[in-house]
Amino acid sequence: MTHTLPSAEVLDGYFGPAVEVTLAGMRAGDGGPFGATLVNSEGEIVVALGNTVLRETDISGHAEMVAVREACKKLNTLDLSDCVMYATCEPCPMCVAVMMWAGIKTCYYASTHVDAGDNGFSDMHLRNYLDGSDTSTLDMVHLGEGREDCASIWTEFQALNAQN
Ligand SMILES: [Zn+2]
Repeated sequence: MTHTLPSAEVLDGYFGPAVEVTLAGMRAGDGGPFGATLVNSEGEIVVALGNTVLRETDISGHAEMVAVREACKKLNTLDLSDCVMYATCEPCPMCVAVMMWAGIKTCYYASTHVDAGDNGFSDMHLRNYLDGSDTSTLDMVHLGEGREDCASIWTEFQALNAQN
């Protein structure tokens, strides 16, 4: 897919706030060197924030993840398909996933996952797991039978859905 890149001025306007808030967050000990800005279809900034992993003791507090969470709350929607993400660094697979769950179609990023790895933030265990080259990091064990209580959730879900 090819994209016409936003103008340098537009990119400055979106990356600038993410960089600023990330630097402030790093200095305050809030989290790592990652920031993100989420912009709506009008070109307005919905949120611009940095990594909150340390401040919130939240392993999932990556900037893009928190941006999606906060934007969904702020806009009271689970659908951010009209929003564009601007990330200071290439999002990890978790954040790629949450952007996709929210329907985001475009993400511009500056630094790469290699840059992150060079600075002690490698996400290669995730990338290798997902591409199947190294699945030793997590045992995912499917219980084929014996969990009727879990299966009953589907029954209840369908019953509830049928009423609506
Ligand atoms: Zn991430």
